[in-house]
Amino acid sequence: MSGVFINLAYLLASVLFILGLKGLTHPRTAVRGNLLGAIGMLIAVAVTLLDQRILDFSMILVGLVIGAAIGAVMAVRVQMTSMPQMVALLNGFGGAGSLLVAGAELMTGAEQSATSAAALPLQVTLIAAAASGLIGAVTFWGSLVAFGKLEGFLKDIRLTGQQAFNAILAVIVLALSGWLIYDPTTLWVYWAIVGVSSVLGLSLVFPIGGADMPVVIALLNSYSGLAAASTGFVLGNNALIITGSLVGASGIILTNIMCKAMNRSLINVLFGVWVPSDSAGSADDVYAGKVKAASAEELGMLLETARRVVIVPGYGMAVAQAQHAVRDLVNLLEQRGADVEFAIHPVAGRMPGHMNVLLAEADIPYDKLKEMDEINPSFEQTDVAIVIGANDVVNPVARTNPSSPIAGMPILNVDKARSIVVIKRSLSPGFAGIPNPLFAADNTLMMFSDAKKGAMDLVTALKEA
Ligand code: NDP
Repeated sequence: MSGVFINLAYLLASVLFILGLKGLTHPRTAVRGNLLGAIGMLIAVAVTLLDQRILDFSMILVGLVIGAAIGAVMAVRVQMTSMPQMVALLNGFGGAGSLLVAGAELMTGAEQSATSAAALPLQVTLIAAAASGLIGAVTFWGSLVAFGKLEGFLKDIRLTGQQAFNAILAVIVLALSGWLIYDPTTLWVYWAIVGVSSVLGLSLVFPIGGADMPVVIALLNSYSGLAAASTGFVLGNNALIITGSLVGASGIILTNIMCKAMNRSLINVLFGVWVPSDSAGSADDVYAGKVKAASAEELGMLLETARRVVIVPGYGMAVAQAQHAVRDLVNLLEQRGADVEFAIHPVAGRMPGHMNVLLAEADIPYDKLKEMDEINPSFEQTDVAIVIGANDVVNPVARTNPSSPIAGMPILNVDKARSIVVIKRSLSPGFAGIPNPLFAADNTLMMFSDAKKGAMDLVTALKEA
C-alpha cells in the first residue's frame, strides 16, 4: 500500500478524532462526536493492519478475542461509580502498551524503522524510545497505585526524603537515556530505564492523598497519550503521534480544569500531601442538637408552593441510581408551575461529567443543567434547593475555614437559598471526610433516605399535597 495513501488515511482519521473531540465538548453533540472518533479509529487500525503485510494476523486475532472478551465483561460489570478506577486501569494499560511496543521495535529493528516511512535519524528514535519507556512505566505503575487507592486497598505512604529519592531516580533515568542514545548497541539499557521509571511511578503516586486522585488520574491520562506519541516516533507512525498528542493535550486541559475545581495547584497535588484536618470540628460539634429531619409529607408541602427549585445532584444520586426518580420529581414540579434547574459542580460524583451523563440518561434536557458559575448568583432567588446525595460540593466550610481539606474549593452556594432540602441516608461525610455545617443550618431540612426512595417519596407526597 503506498505511503501517500496510508498517510492520507491517517490524516482523515486524525481529522475525525479532532471533530470527535469537538463533538464531545457538548452533551448534545457528544454521541456524534464519539461515533466520529470511533470511525477515525477504525480507519487508522484498518490501514495500519493492511500496511503491515508481514504481520501474523492469527496472533492479532487471538489478542483481539481475548481483549474484547475481557473488555466486554468489564464494560458490563463496572458500576458508574467505579469509573475513575476503570479509567485509571485503562490509562495504565495504555502506558504499558506503549512501552512494550517501543521496546519490541527497538529489539527487532530500530535501524529499519529509522529508515522507514518517517526516516528519522536513529538518535531521534532512541530519544523517543527512552521517553516512551520512562513515561509508559510511570503511567502504568502510577495508575495501578491510583486504582488501588480508589478501590480502598492501598493507603497513602509517605517516607522522609521521598522527593529527594524521586529526584535521584529521575537523574538515573536521564543518565540511562543518555547512555542508550550515545551507544545504541546497548539496547538492554532500555529495560533498565523501564525498571527505574517503574519505581519512580510507584514512588510518585504513593504519597498523593486519595482526595487528589481525580487530578492524578487526569494527569496520568495525559501521560498515557505522551507515551503513545513517543512510541509513534519510534514506529514512524503518524497516526499514533497525532492521537497520542491529542490525548496528551486533552488530558492536561482536563487536569487543569480539575485542579481549578478543587482549588489545588498541580505542583501542590504532585508534591504536597493532603492532610486530613480535624479543624472542621468533630461531627458532634457541628451537628449536635441542630439538625432538623423532615418527612416526605412535610417536604411535599414546602415544595408545593415553591416557584423556583434548584436540584443539586452528587455522588449519592449516582450510587442510588436516582436519576429517573429525580426526573419524575422535576416533571411534577414543572406541572405545578415551578421553574426547575440543576446545579452541576465540576467534581460532583466520582468522574468529570458524572452528573451530566446520569441526567442525560434520564432524558433531562441539557439546557436545565447549569454550571457552577452560571447558577451560583441565582441561589438567593431560589425558594428550595434540593441536594440529592451531594455533600462536599455544597460544604460552606470551603469558604469559611482556611485549614479545612477543601479550603478554597469553589462550591455551590446552596446555603444562600431560602430553604434547603438534603436527601441522604445519614450524617456521614462525603469524599473529603469532613462534617458539613449546611446540614445543621437554620434553613436546612434533612430527609434521611436513600436518594432514589427519597425522590420517589417526594413525588408521592407532592401528588397528594
Ligand atoms: P460526596 O462524596 O461529598 O458525598 C456523597 C454523599 O452521598 C455522602 O455524604 C453519602 O451520605 C451520600 N450517599 C451515598 N449513597 C447514597 C444513597 N444511596 N442515597 C443517598 N445519599 C447517598 O459527593 P459530592 O458529589 O458532593 O462530591 C464529590 C467528591 O468526590 C468531591 O470531594 C470530589 O473532589 C471527589 N471526587 C470527584 C471526582 C470527580 O471526578 N468528580 C473523582 C473522585 C473524587 P450518606 O452515606 O449519609 O448517604
